[in-house]
Amino acid sequence: MRKYEDTYRHKGLRKKLINSIKEKGITDERVLDAMMNIPRHFFLDTALDHIAYEDRAFPIREGQTISQPYTVAYQTQLLEIKPYEKILEIGTGSAYQATVLAEMGAIVFTIERKKGLFDLNKEFIFRKKYPNIKFFYGDGFEGLPTFAPFDKILITAAAPFIPPKLIEQLKPGGKMVIPLDEDGIQKMKRITKNEEGSYNEETFSNFSFVPMLKGKN
Ligand code: SAH
Repeated sequence: MRKYEDTYRHKGLRKKLINSIKEKGITDERVLDAMMNIPRHFFLDTALDHIAYEDRAFPIREGQTISQPYTVAYQTQLLEIKPYEKILEIGTGSAYQATVLAEMGAIVFTIERKKGLFDLNKEFIFRKKYPNIKFFYGDGFEGLPTFAPFDKILITAAAPFIPPKLIEQLKPGGKMVIPLDEDGIQKMKRITKNEEGSYNEETFSNFSFVPMLKGKN
């Protein structure tokens, strides 16, 4: 059995990481506080414990990655999360991003297409602490029509296009943050759905994500 310990050393490294993210331009204190409260090393293999607080992505199982902390902060800040908002996340991965949203008081519905990762999240150590995260195994392109509409939608994989079904599942006035792939580089976009169902698009910085793929496996 793995022992989960959040030592003073971990907390110190985490503080440094949060400060460096702040220096890179993240200003939303609620995002920074949430990330300060979550031991990122719990989401990684114990072998990566000593580097868990470097600002970089790491491999998790199934050839997938836990996003870079700066990227998590960036996407979360763009979402402008408020407590009790219903958020749909595509790409659970390690569940770190879902936990940041949950820590901010959101109600999180997260979908993963890799069965192996979905099953691992059944052992999610924070299950009791965050009953506001609901895990689903499925294809994110389909969303979760049964639970729609959502206040916000977050895609954490490189999307080849804006999934129409996800736009449908967004509330009028709702926002979607999506890394949209253009020739192998992802441009961070924020989509705001209008009352009539059309949407506005804002474009932010470039990022690099693993691909959003169709179907389950
Ligand atoms: N949010 C994650 C980042 C994971 S990387 C974290 O905090 O760790 C992106 C994840 O998206 C991978 O686990 C990948 O399997 C998943 N993914 C890719 N395409 C998907 C799809 N169509 N539906 C659901 N998950 C998908």
